[in-house]
Order: sequence, then structure tokens, then C-alpha cells
Amino acid sequence: MIEAWKQVLTLSKLRSGQVVTILSGADTHPQTLAAALIAVQSFGAIVNRLDLQPINGEKAHSRDALSYLGTTPLTGNRAAIAALKASDLVLDLMTLLFSAEQHEILKAGVKILLAVEPPEVLARLVPTADDRKRVLAASEKLGRAKLMHITSAAGTDFYCPLGEFGPISEYGFADEPGRWDHWPSGFTLTFPNDGQAYGRIVLDRGDILLPQKDYVREPIEMTIEGGYARRIEGGVDAELLRDYMAAFNDPEAFAISHIGWGLQPRARWSTLGLFNREATIGMDARAFEGNFLFSLGPNNEGGGNRSTTCHIDIPLRGCTVELDGEAVVRDGKVLDRVAHA
Ligand code: FE
Repeated sequence: MIEAWKQVLTLSKLRSGQVVTILSGADTHPQTLAAALIAVQSFGAIVNRLDLQPINGEKAHSRDALSYLGTTPLTGNRAAIAALKASDLVLDLMTLLFSAEQHEILKAGVKILLAVEPPEVLARLVPTADDRKRVLAASEKLGRAKLMHITSAAGTDFYCPLGEFGPISEYGFADEPGRWDHWPSGFTLTFPNDGQAYGRIVLDRGDILLPQKDYVREPIEMTIEGGYARRIEGGVDAELLRDYMAAFNDPEAFAISHIGWGLQPRARWSTLGLFNREATIGMDARAFEGNFLFSLGPNNEGGGNRSTTCHIDIPLRGCTVELDGEAVVRDGKVLDRVAHA
């Protein structure tokens, strides 16, 4: 883990004398934290720990940090925000996602790297410079596209007009001032023009729901009109999803959020079933090569105005993803012709 951190910190361009603040919470893995403290100091950098209290416990329906968004332990916490803004690099071992405070810290030029998966997942999915190259090449294509069209043998036929929001690259390290990234990752994403996505998405058997961390057992069909999932139909899996989402009592929960595809060959579709649900947030599922990852909920991470506390990430297998008529993924295989170990 120390060697893994050293690689991540080297790729993140950490320099001697810089200030690193490690954000921790009740669920921070002690091995990840201990290894980060040693690795940061080996660069001659100054390291601080900022430990914050858990929140939202009475509102969240699961212990997954991504299952209830909105307020964070930084909300209204001026002292903590000041400490993070005065750092060169923040290692977020707590999960500070989708928040105004995170944007404020990034705007100050601070780099933020989220790392909350268990040590075994982090160690297997240590990012490389090649990951960055591949993800950036995909993001460039995505940034030029006006329409993403997704199809599958299961029945997906889904259209996303693009151009309102730029592409976002997640390659696993934070190498530029003001950059946020997540170790592990390896995918490109954007958001459809607000209110314009339409068509049908069919979640097939074996596709994944997050934060449920379940493989779908019978197909779920979503009808998308005007940017929202208007109907979610199928068997018991569809009923479970509808019931979970209904608890948030927020129509914005049903909006199409980010869309993109996985580019990480070391991430696996099959690992999710090997972990206790509370041990992982499911980054293998989000990043495995050739998935089509779409989500329901907010678009404020991409620069939009929609915030909602509900967020569902859904990686699908076996899809064909086309940008302006050119396939970038065909039947779940990435077509970038880049050879990666
Ligand atoms: Fe998401």
C-alpha cells in the first residue's frame, strides 16, 4: 500500500514542502490511512489529518457514502474548509462528493483525490500514466460529439443529445491544480443536455445497480422522456428500485445524470459479488472496460443546476455506444485500439 500510494502521489506530482491534508471519517480504512501518512512524508511533504464526524445517518437508507448526497461534514464547517483550501493536495479518505464545499476548495486550486475502496481494491487498481492517456483520448472524442446513442441486444435504444456540458475524465490521480479525481477509476463521462435524453434503457440480467450493489436478476425497462425516467418496469428488481427511489420523494431523482463508458482493464465486472456490501462502493463495477455507465440524479457535478440527494449508478454490459454515428464501444468492447496490459 505504501508503494501504491507512492505511485499515485508521483503521478499527482507531489513535491517536497507541499502541504497534504488527509480527510478521514468513521469509515476510513486504517491501513489506507497509515500507508498514506508514510508515503506522503517520504516525499518531504507536510501531512495533516482532519477527522470529521459522520452525518445523514438518520436519512440514509444504507451505509454507502454515495447513497445520500447533499450536505457533508464540511457544510457550515468554516475551520475545516479553511484548512483544506490552504492545502496543495487533499486525500479524501472520507467521501466528500457532490458538494458546494468541494467545488469551493477546488476553485482555490487545491487538488483532491478520493480513495475509499478497501486496500485490496486500491492495490489492484493503482493508476498508471497510460490510464490517463486512454481516458483523455476518449474524453476528447466525447467532448466533440453532439449525440450519444446506446443500443443493446437486451433492447436498449437510448439517445443523449450532447454539448451543454463538457466531458469529465476520471483516471485515478490528481495531477493539475483544481483537479478532482478518484482512485480507482478509469472512465470518461458527461451529462446529456438538460431535459433532452430520450428512449429506452433495458437493464439485463447481470447488469449492476449501485448503491444497491446487486446484479439484476430479471430485466428492468426504463422509458426516458424529456431527460427523465418516466417509467421503471419489470419484476421484483424494478419494484425494489422504485421503492428505494420513492423514499427520497423527489422527482429530480429520476433525471438522467452522468453517461459514459468504462476504460479500466484491471477492473472486473465479477468482483462485486465477492465483497461485503459495506466493504466497497463498487468502483470495479463503475470502471470495468467496455461498460456503459449511466446514472440517475444530480447534474451539479457537471456544471448543471440539478441537485438531489438520490443518486443511482448503473453499469450495463454488452452495449454499443455511438458518438455521432461512430461506435466507440461495440457489444461491450472498447474500440480505441489501444493495447493495455
Ligand atoms: Fe455516479
